[in-house]
Amino acid sequence: MSIIENIDCFVALDDCSPTVQEYIGQSTQVPGQEDAFYVVDIDDILNKHRNWIQSLPRVRPYYAVKCNSSRVILEILMGLGIGFDCASKGEIQELISLGALPKDIIYANPCKPKSHIEYAAKTGVKLMTFDNTEELYKVARYMPDAQLVLRIRVPDEHAVCVLGTKYGAEMDDVTNLLTLAKKLNLNVTGVSFHVGSGCTSAEAYSIALQNARFVFDVAIELGFQMNLLDIGGGFPGSSDSPITFDEVAKVINANLDLYFPTDQDISIIAEPGRYYVASAFTLACNIVAKKVIKNSDGSPNAMYYLNDGVYGSFNCTIFDHYETKPTTLDAYRSGTDEQGLLSTDQTQFQTTIWGPTCDSMDCIKKDFYFPEMQVGEWIIFPDMGAYTICAASNFNGFKTPSLKFYVKSYGFELISQFYNWAKIANKLNIRPSGINLNAKNFRGGSLPLNMIEVN
Ligand SMILES: *Cc1c(COP(=O)(O)O)cnc(C)c1O
Repeated sequence: MSIIENIDCFVALDDCSPTVQEYIGQSTQVPGQEDAFYVVDIDDILNKHRNWIQSLPRVRPYYAVKCNSSRVILEILMGLGIGFDCASKGEIQELISLGALPKDIIYANPCKPKSHIEYAAKTGVKLMTFDNTEELYKVARYMPDAQLVLRIRVPDEHAVCVLGTKYGAEMDDVTNLLTLAKKLNLNVTGVSFHVGSGCTSAEAYSIALQNARFVFDVAIELGFQMNLLDIGGGFPGSSDSPITFDEVAKVINANLDLYFPTDQDISIIAEPGRYYVASAFTLACNIVAKKVIKNSDGSPNAMYYLNDGVYGSFNCTIFDHYETKPTTLDAYRSGTDEQGLLSTDQTQFQTTIWGPTCDSMDCIKKDFYFPEMQVGEWIIFPDMGAYTICAASNFNGFKTPSLKFYVKSYGFELISQFYNWAKIANKLNIRPSGINLNAKNFRGGSLPLNMIEVN
């Protein structure tokens, strides 16, 4: 067993190496380790990508940066040849500074400040979405050569986070918008939609694609050269999602073949966020304090105070309507049963877990049943990669958790062939020790999307 180990990245080189679960366990045992931390399973992200290109071969992913903008993640996705969905000047700047090409970025915010449009124009990011007339006047003034993508509103009542109340043109307005775009001499090249984040119905994509076809036809009739279909985000990212990625992919493929057959020269892209990152991130929190109170009927309610909370990673409980899945370290290490529940034969007590800040709003989970824990022990939260650290604050002086990375030999070999491996290695703080880290240098852009061999 040979292992490269340091503060930030752990490379498990053979079958005798610790699993990611064991690695998390070991990390909690490091003397002096008290702060909450994430372990990021890089193989999980690579597997997601493999699954994507297998299941949706016609669709190129543009990762939605807002979902989790950790730099190592962005670098790895870039190495895989994925594009990016940015929503602001700041996100575009970040991606460009990491080396992304403007052509691999879509500025997918239908309502943009004019200075951000000017920045996109200067940088050469041409693809951008719109859903209203004011935006067309703005784009005509600040970036007349933009490649515009009309975002339509699609039914999203089955989504956890509804987006249609804020964005997307009504089907009734499509003709007016396109007519105005024509009058302003603008270049509309595509259609986009978002079925809502945490979408729980594959059928939503089917209606959306039908509507997208309608827009294509209207636009073509008006003389636009339509060549881009953007099917947005909303793809499930954790294994216990109400619908699976494969179910969604099946519906999408069938409807793409129906409405956008392969003989038409159309690029199809998507903007997955949570799909790529949700399950790769596991958060370990330390119990810093404990108090047992009595309910009115005299039964005990154990209250644990953790070192990350709603003002930190668990902002997802508010903004992303996320139901956290706390588990004990032992249960986490021994894995899940067939219902995906972590096994425990310990007696369970009514429990409430709190974040560290002085606000009583800072409650992670209320009145659930959990084994008795002690101060200094760890609670593990799987599936914490999407919409967590990216929106965490340092309210009350509490730090956001650090990231530790874990990768197995296969994944390690793969990422060490990426054209940007030197930068990834640097960010992972990997020092060559014992194994050959000679990255083959792929110059001149990203690797092809299908670079992962499908077994
Ligand atoms: C948030 C967002 C996404 C990503 O959504 P997920 O549900 O995480 O896949 C994609 N596109 C746009 C325009 C978004 O706002």
